[in-house]
Amino acid sequence: MKILLTEEQIAEKVRTLGAQLSADYRDKNPVLIGCLKGCVVFLADLMREITVPHAIDFVRTSSYGKGRVSTGVEEAEIFDVNIRGRHAVIVEDIVDTGLTLGYLTEVLTKQEPLSLKVCALLVKPGAHRAPVTIDYRGFDIPADFVVGYGLDWGERYRDLPYVAVVDEQDA
Ligand code: 5GP
Repeated sequence: MKILLTEEQIAEKVRTLGAQLSADYRDKNPVLIGCLKGCVVFLADLMREITVPHAIDFVRTSSYGKGRVSTGVEEAEIFDVNIRGRHAVIVEDIVDTGLTLGYLTEVLTKQEPLSLKVCALLVKPGAHRAPVTIDYRGFDIPADFVVGYGLDWGERYRDLPYVAVVDEQDA
């Protein structure tokens, strides 16, 4: 396993994103919509860097199972998210093909929010297959499969405080 982003690098980026969101959403009481399960660590840290009132809600999508190739969204739960008339921000741990984000944006737009933006910590830029805009962007990373800081490989490694690239030895 090779560390790609250290705990300190991530913390600094989350502070920057939190400051941007705080400035942009002053007096807007936005809803942050976390995409389970990978968002949990990022969202928990991000919330504490946002200095203006905000709410949180969750959606869950799955496309990977235990494998490492995205085939698009196979399953989605929106729980009781209701952003009609609210400002909302989708919080994603990682955007790879963009298919998940494209799907979520489509579903959530139907709820007629006042605005809908996207905040993603990690972005694999070359791989976008869906036309998605990432308004708040953490790190552009290479196309390698990464784990840690909430991201798993078959439910392992979510607890790592850094982001690392896995290789076959880590299986
Ligand atoms: P998409 O390809 O639709 O943009 O990404 C779908 C989902 O695949 C992401 O939300 C994330 O849960 C997962 N994913 C994409 N790339 C990686 C990766 O490098 N590591 C891990 N653990 N999950 C990933």
